[in-house]
Amino acid sequence: MATITNHMPTAELQALDAAHHLHPFSANNALGEEGTRVITRARGVWLNDSEGEEILDAMAGLWCVNIGYGRDELAEVAARQMRELPYYNTFFKTTHVPAIALAQKLAELAPGDLNHVFFAGGGSEANDTNIRMVRTYWQNKGKPEKNVIISRKNAYHGSTVGSSALGGMAGMHAQSGMIPGVHHINQPNWWAEGGDMDPEEFGLARARELEEAIQELGEDRVAAFIAEPVQGAGGVIVAPDSYWPEIQRICDKYDILLIADEVICGFGRTGNWFGTQTMGIRPHIMTIAKGLSSGYAPIGGSIVCDEVAHVIGKDEFNHGYTYSGHPVAAAVALENLRILEEENIIDHVRNVAAPYLKEKWEALTDHPLVGEAKIVGMMASIALTPDKASRAKFASEPGTIGYICRERCFRNNLIMRHVGDRMIISPPLVITPAEIDEMFVRIRRSLDEAQAEIEKQGLMKSAS
Ligand code: PLP
Repeated sequence: MATITNHMPTAELQALDAAHHLHPFSANNALGEEGTRVITRARGVWLNDSEGEEILDAMAGLWCVNIGYGRDELAEVAARQMRELPYYNTFFKTTHVPAIALAQKLAELAPGDLNHVFFAGGGSEANDTNIRMVRTYWQNKGKPEKNVIISRKNAYHGSTVGSSALGGMAGMHAQSGMIPGVHHINQPNWWAEGGDMDPEEFGLARARELEEAIQELGEDRVAAFIAEPVQGAGGVIVAPDSYWPEIQRICDKYDILLIADEVICGFGRTGNWFGTQTMGIRPHIMTIAKGLSSGYAPIGGSIVCDEVAHVIGKDEFNHGYTYSGHPVAAAVALENLRILEEENIIDHVRNVAAPYLKEKWEALTDHPLVGEAKIVGMMASIALTPDKASRAKFASEPGTIGYICRERCFRNNLIMRHVGDRMIISPPLVITPAEIDEMFVRIRRSLDEAQAEIEKQGLMKSAS
């Protein structure tokens, strides 16, 4: 069999990909016909493809390459660890240094008494862990009926059957069904759903839906509330300032566990180590993945407070993954955390990159297509609209306009994603001001081209 390499012609690689590779979140038949783009190398914030194009990755892969691509230190650590101890598990009575060291480091970085880590292969598995963990917690406290988890519509908590049920993506529920004991409330998306309320009033109203749901379901039945500090895959939805303090008050009042899904927000994305610090909330459990290893190795986990760890530890916890605390992934994650810390990357976000990005991002509202522009640290979104004054939606099928815009970005060698008719970015945290300038050249060019195409196709119409 011929060896498949980066040096093969793109068309051959595309044909092999179409013949054998099923892509996640894709209509694979259509994808095979359109042809995929073959990424061959990456450095910093830049990707190269098999045609020799240089692409600015404004999504940091899937929101994960926080330290940027191409850091040799991580490759060296991985090779060293693979030689020394490529694998051993942490079930039963064994452990190893990479898992011990990473758990200790995470306990040091995490706020409050979040001192205990249960490792998983990624964010979905970690959220599955959380479902079992909060139910075990209440069972061990003698309250097995306290087992309902409240989540939010449009939340993304992963792709396994458990974590997707926890999430609020209707399309995923339609494909795999729900699991019992999960209840969804509305998200705090003022632009799309705020009506005549001002944002702060709306934030309070949406937070109080949690209280209403608890009262409806019964205080003695609700185990936990889970949310992303900033909803990511739902469209970078930043809650109004009134939202999180009210959520914290309600969780405290009704004695329900607060789970913060930090898979995107963690490890510097919002300008602090964790998004909960930016939002001023105190979770009992944090889900982590992505920026934990900057995507260099698959690893995730749940960081758990003293009380929850103590209670679930009373009995056997019937849960774990072959790769929980995988030594190579743990060693890579530890090296990634060293780089984030020693190179002051979070200070760079707070003092340099995020303020510079914010000024330019918010100025995008001068573009005819752009309604609101939201940003927290290094994650940002714009709402595309045919009429800013009325916050109108487009008459076309939701996502049509976002897709046109995303394709324009793609052709301009800029990776930006669309969620419906919102455009989002989440670049590597190490992006420089000069690279931000270059990103905005491409964003504005893409928006102008998208506008021309939308007008040409007669799509600049508001939904009635
Ligand atoms: N939670 C959040 C907030 C996410 O954004 C994601 C992935 O995008 C996940 C969980 C799932 O993580 P993974 O894809 O590593 O399973």
